[in-house]
Amino acid sequence: MQGGLVPEGYAVDVTVVGAGVIGLTTAVEVQAGGHTVQVVAAGRGEATTSFVAGALWFPFRADPPDRVNGWARRSRERLQVLASAMPEAGVDVLTVYEAADGADTPWWARSVPDLTLVPASPLGCAAWRFRAPRVEPELFLGWLEGQLQRPVQKRKVTSLDAVAGEAVVNCTGLGARALTGDASLQAVYGQVLLVEPGELDMSVSLGDERDESALLYSIPRRRAVVLGGCALPCPDTQSLLPDPVLRELILARARASGLRHGPVLSERAGLRPYRPSVRLERTGRVIHNYGHGGAGYTLAYGCAEEVAALLRR
Ligand SMILES: Cc1cc2nc3c(=O)[nH]c(=O)nc-3n(C[C@H](O)[C@H](O)[C@H](O)COP(=O)(O)OP(=O)(O)OC[C@H]3O[C@@H](n4cnc5c(N)ncnc54)[C@H](O)[C@@H]3O)c2cc1C
Repeated sequence: MQGGLVPEGYAVDVTVVGAGVIGLTTAVEVQAGGHTVQVVAAGRGEATTSFVAGALWFPFRADPPDRVNGWARRSRERLQVLASAMPEAGVDVLTVYEAADGADTPWWARSVPDLTLVPASPLGCAAWRFRAPRVEPELFLGWLEGQLQRPVQKRKVTSLDAVAGEAVVNCTGLGARALTGDASLQAVYGQVLLVEPGELDMSVSLGDERDESALLYSIPRRRAVVLGGCALPCPDTQSLLPDPVLRELILARARASGLRHGPVLSERAGLRPYRPSVRLERTGRVIHNYGHGGAGYTLAYGCAEEVAALLRR
């Protein structure tokens, strides 16, 4: 059914608060389970952190490892199906080289069946090689919204108790701090540049996360490449105007690794909603689903399936 076809006054049995990748993926999944769903959000599209992301499947800055591996594995499978079945959703599968920190198997290896340690890589060092989906946020967020029977309602929620619905799913990212008083949420600043591809291989994504104070990643989109980045804990009030010093550091790291990209097209910054443990649990009629850190796209489908299962119980 297309947006708007559910008659006015029809009972909404599930309200999802938040229209980032977590809220929209959850809403579509819950709707597929037979519920009537209304998404309510203070901001959509460009106004979300989800719009800024890389957005490569890779479990970065998300905990705890056991649950994250389970959600990440499911999301990877679901995104891979979309990549071949629905090109309009903006998902493609790339070859990824992730710089290896010695020969110890990384904690996320359980969610990557084709993981191989290669002695040399385009990064100039040993790396873990695997295939993984990459999402175009603009296409994917729009595609998800297009699956909803009811259009997203733009509204800031000040109390989850006051939200209509037999069940409410809280997918507000960093906004959850104000709604729940959750002091364990931590904003983690990230900045990326969109560059022309230049001589970069558009089928290959490169990442070096060994030193969190000097991250380097290069993630091809369909027509441009995302260069990053950084992961700096900060207050929620941090300005999202890209920092020129960080921009120069990102460009210098790319140069030092021999990445021959084209001119800079634009730059963006966002705040990752990190929590020592992703909060996915039911308390009464509210299901919380927030705190996915640097891995919202990597976990969205796995978490959405768990929310749908909690609603069935
Ligand atoms: C630079 C950068 C690069 C990244 N790269 C990747 C990557 O490569 N792969 C990956 O998997 N992840 C990546 N991430 C992380 C990813 O972007 C986040 O994990 C993800 O966007 C979190 O999604 P979310 O839906 O929880 O939050 P958001 O996208 O922030 O959405 C929150 C939603 O809740 C709404 N909201 C908040 N408070 C209220 C309220 N009180 N009332 C109503 N609505 C409210 C907001 O308006 C918004 O709609 C990156 C992040 C950054 C910053």
